[in-house]
Parts: sequence; structure tokens; C-alpha cells
Amino acid sequence: MADPNLAAAIKAALASVDIPGGGALSGYAGLSEIIVTTSAVAFAIAVAPGMEAAFGPAREAAQAAAATVAPGRKIMVSLTSDKAPPATGQAAAQGRSGPAPKSPVSGVKHIVAVGSGKGGVGKSTVAVNLALALQAEGLRVGMLDADLYGPSIPKLLGLEGKPAVRADGIFIPHDAFGIKAMSIGSMLNPDQAVVWRGPMATSALRQLLRETDWGDLDILVIDLPPGTGDIHISLFQQAEVTGVVIVSTPQELALIDAKKAIDMLRRLNVPLLGLVENMSYFIAPDTGRRYDIFGTGGAETAASSLDMPFLGAIPLVMTIRETSDGGQPVVVSDFAGPEAQAFTTIARRILAGTPALRT
Ligand code: ADP
Repeated sequence: MADPNLAAAIKAALASVDIPGGGALSGYAGLSEIIVTTSAVAFAIAVAPGMEAAFGPAREAAQAAAATVAPGRKIMVSLTSDKAPPATGQAAAQGRSGPAPKSPVSGVKHIVAVGSGKGGVGKSTVAVNLALALQAEGLRVGMLDADLYGPSIPKLLGLEGKPAVRADGIFIPHDAFGIKAMSIGSMLNPDQAVVWRGPMATSALRQLLRETDWGDLDILVIDLPPGTGDIHISLFQQAEVTGVVIVSTPQELALIDAKKAIDMLRRLNVPLLGLVENMSYFIAPDTGRRYDIFGTGGAETAASSLDMPFLGAIPLVMTIRETSDGGQPVVVSDFAGPEAQAFTTIARRILAGTPALRT
């Protein structure tokens, strides 16, 4: 639960933190709102471009002050400056520093991200079942829910409570059906999600990614927010992503949105593993008859015109919705069934297309 008294107490403690140029952090105009959740405290300090290093000690002191007032909560203090990231080539030519170089995520061999053009196409459902299907292929798999604006992985995987935090501040992920899972949703109250914009969101992503004890994973599946935004750019700039799977429904509109997302990923030089068509067709439970309610083959045609692999189609079935809502994804609740097998096919096609994922 949000705790306004705790936020006020933290702000009061920031009176002891000096900032460059004189004065205390508590009275500094660049201090953001202090967000308190059941497991975390987060705030940002906006500084002028070039002042990041000078504010480093203030950030550390703020972190320590907040930890004293709110022991047991994960403290996330980010320094932000609204400098636009320079285009690498131009920046280099002008002798300015570009974005920080990519660095590996400790314990993670490969990152596979799952994206979509718009929300509600079943991206999270596909991400979770794909993670489980990859695990069934013998791989060690983790799952990071980076969909800050609609985190649904806790419900899909039946995660309860908040992740534990080690004494050194590192998260211990949930274990769900053998998958190590972290979600920003476990840390946020639903009404707070919207305040995590821009720098706050990307800072939260960085900490979830890099301050979690992932153990030893072959693949970390990341559920991206729909569309393309700060989270995507931040992820692709800081870590090597082996590839992205795009989920789309066959509807023309969803595909147009998917194409926009694909265009942007190409511009960022992120490899595309392929397109999954979700809610492709409907099988009537009583007659077993198949209805191509949105027309057939939209995503398959789109995949070939976009020059990317078509990974497979998932039917629109009650079982998928019910098992998702019940925290028992279809790949674990009915592995031999046709819906789970559709995910197995997709996982195998991904592994066949990118054999390096097995190494
Ligand atoms: P997104 O991540 O794209 O916003 P979700 O995965 O949260 O979408 O799915 C949106 C809703 O659609 C959920 O209620 C989910 O259970 C349901 N859903 C997703 N895929 C299917 C499917 N193939 N058949 C039936 N329901 C589905």
C-alpha cells in the first residue's frame, strides 16, 4: 500500500543530503515525487546535462537516508538529465559520449523479448506460454515482465506477494513452474503504474534486469510494453537482445501497428525472430467447427511481406483465457493438448531458426 507518511518522512530525511551548489535535496526543485509501495521506494533527481557525476554523492546519500527511514524496502534513486541521447555516429564525430555500451546481464545467456504493435493482442499470454514451452525443450528460462503499463505476468503465473530482497539489495525472483519470474507488477500498486514514466520507468527496468539474482539462465524472456517507447529503447541500448518475437492478431489494424513496431526494431538493429499470430481462428466448443473470424493468414502473409519468419498461429479458445486468468498457463495445465502444442511448435521454430539460443 502507498504510504504518504513514509514518503513525507523520507523527504524530511533528505534535508540532511547536500547538493552541489549548496542547499539540501529536500528543497531541490529537481526532486521528483517519492513513490512508496509495499516493497519499494522510488524517486528521481533531475539534474542539468553534465551534472550527473557531481550529483553522484548526493544520490548515494539519498539512497542511504531513504534506506534508514524505510528499512526492508528496495530503494531506487535515479539521476536523470533530459539530454536527448545523441545519435551514435554524429556523437562520435563530435567527440561527445554516446549511450553507455551494452553490457551482459549477469547469469543470463540470451534475452528474447516479446512485443506487439498494440495492447490486448495476447502478447503476455504468448510470452508466458512461450517461456514455459522453451523450458519444456530443456532450457533454463526466466521471465521479466517489463510491461509497466499493464503488468499481467503475476496473474498469468500465479505469483503471490512481492519478491524477496537479499541483504545486499538484490531481488530474489519468484519461482513459477520452474521459471524465475520478476514483474514490476509485484512492486507497484495498480494506481501507481502511470506515474512511472520516462526515466523512472527505464530506471526500474534497469534495476529489475540487473539487480535480480537470475541464477544461471539460458534464456530470459522479456514481456515488453505494447508499441515502442522508452522501455524498448532503453533495453536495446543497454543489453544484447538475441531477438524479438512479435505477436499480432490477424486483424488488419493490429498488423498495421505491428508493422510500425517492426520498422522501429529494424532501425535499432534488433534481430526479429518472427511473427506469432494469436487469436487466429475460433473453434466452437460444441461442434468443433473452425471459424476464421478475422479472415485467414493475415499474419502469415504479413510475415512474408515483411521478410521475417512466421512462427505459428494460436487459436482463440476459452481454455487459453481460463487457464491464463487462473494462473495455470495452458502449457503447464494441459501440455499434451492442441493449444499447448501450438506453443511448442513456436518454441521449436524459434530454436531451429536461432540455434545459438541453445548454447
Ligand atoms: P496483451 O499482453 O497483448 O495486452 P494479454 O496476454 O493480456 O494481452 O491478453 C489479453 C486477454 O486476451 C486476456 O484476457 C487473455 O486471457 C486473452 N487471450 C489472449 N490470447 C488468447 C487466446 N489465444 N484465446 C483466448 N483468449 C486469449
